[in-house]
Amino acid sequence: MTPGLVTTAYLVSGILFVLSLGGLSKQESARKGNLYGILGMALAIIATFVQLTIDPKYGVINFQFLAPLMIGGAVLGMILAKRVEMTSMPELVAILHSFVGAAAVLVGLSTFLDPATALMSGSKKLIHDVEILLGVFIGGVTFTGSVIAFGKLRGSLSGTPFLLPGRHLANLGMVGVSIWLGSQFLEQGHDEAWISLLIVMGISFVLGVHLIVAIGGADMPVVVSMLNSYSGWAAAAAGFMLKNDLLIITGALVGSSGAILSYIMCKAMNRSLANVIFGGFGTSSGSSPGGGSEVEGTITETTADEVAEELKEAKEVMIVPGYGMAVAQAQHVVKDITETLRARDVNVRFAIHPVAGRLPGHMNVLLAEANVPYDIVFEMDEINDDLPEVDLLLVVGANDIVNPSALEDSSSPIAGMPVIEAWKAKSVVALKRSMAAGYSGVENPLYFKDNTDMLFGDAKDTLSAVFAKLG
Ligand code: NDP
Repeated sequence: MTPGLVTTAYLVSGILFVLSLGGLSKQESARKGNLYGILGMALAIIATFVQLTIDPKYGVINFQFLAPLMIGGAVLGMILAKRVEMTSMPELVAILHSFVGAAAVLVGLSTFLDPATALMSGSKKLIHDVEILLGVFIGGVTFTGSVIAFGKLRGSLSGTPFLLPGRHLANLGMVGVSIWLGSQFLEQGHDEAWISLLIVMGISFVLGVHLIVAIGGADMPVVVSMLNSYSGWAAAAAGFMLKNDLLIITGALVGSSGAILSYIMCKAMNRSLANVIFGGFGTSSGSSPGGGSEVEGTITETTADEVAEELKEAKEVMIVPGYGMAVAQAQHVVKDITETLRARDVNVRFAIHPVAGRLPGHMNVLLAEANVPYDIVFEMDEINDDLPEVDLLLVVGANDIVNPSALEDSSSPIAGMPVIEAWKAKSVVALKRSMAAGYSGVENPLYFKDNTDMLFGDAKDTLSAVFAKLG
């Protein structure tokens, strides 16, 4: 492979990554998207190895160290990815981001210590030093921030926001001192600059911890997506330092797609990113309801037998899955019920809220895993108008995404969040284990409506009982 071919391989990899992102945006093309990503990454690794071998600027590469580390990392990654539950996906992503952050810091430090850097001068050196600074700073924040996000998602660290007095001022101070140290770094001799760089690294570590400990555990998925974006920019900075065009392209793709994803998640929750980062909202799910106006009225309980009877009568059935379906792993029995009803000419459709569950596309992945046909799965905006025609609507472990107070109560913490208007269906059955609140900790008036019955219990157990009675 010549240097020209290496560049072409990088370009093809870049295109494959763009195709991969495009494919992943739709359920039908997600597998193909994944395949493009795998091909792009395989090509990128091969081209990088070739470049390391043929380009004299990299000197002697110790493949005997590199190869076992890469193979070990790949095997470990495969084991972790195979074992991880869907509900734990955000924590796996968080810890992987911390690796990207740590890598950017290490690349920054080693680039600074590279004798070739010391020989640079003029504007070339200035640009190179700025790249090192940015890589170390963004990488440092990403590294420690992601480790804290991982701890919170895993439950090893408390999900309650840790709010120091004057924390915004402290954050601003840390950024200010880093900028000042950075300006010193650009002018100092090698030894003093090294000390400044290490201090900037230390501050970025503290800033990463401080920023993320202040955010409630339940907001971590948005934070993970935001850290995803940071990790992309840190990788792009590393790409500039290493003069690797593909790393720059890939970093920019990850950086911008992470930012777009954070924006989409915030929009679907009707919140700003600033509110997520500085709001200390959604501290823990499963808590007693609170916030918003008191809900008056009584709830009506139903049984699996009664639900099975109602399903037998219904012609139009809608299923709204939420986080509880993921916890209960009820998607397979949901599919069994769907199949049985469809075989009896019942029109069964699924309504998916953009932030149902704990990560975007969470429900789509679970339904695809259970082989629910794509053409009966609809987005909230496509389905809300059809709800009055629905005979029976099953809310399977969803709470906030069907909460009428988002539209009806301006004092509710989730006021303004677009929701699936489940209460408009002729009859509603809500499946959950108790009257506990969902993610936002807000009471749900849906459960008290005249057309709503509650079926209490683990969704997999109750739906299995319903399925058994459907016969
Ligand atoms: P919620 O967290 O609002 O509600 C889930 C409900 O499932 C709970 O009320 C719980 O009630 C019930 N549940 C839990 N386990 C089981 C079980 N084993 N069987 C039956 N029910 C169960 O989830 P939604 O999907 O409705 O809403 C998602 C929330 O997450 C939104 O507030 C959204 O803003 C937020 N969010 C989503 C993100 C995303 O990207 N998807 C990212 C960040 C936040 P009980 O304990 O009584 O069983």
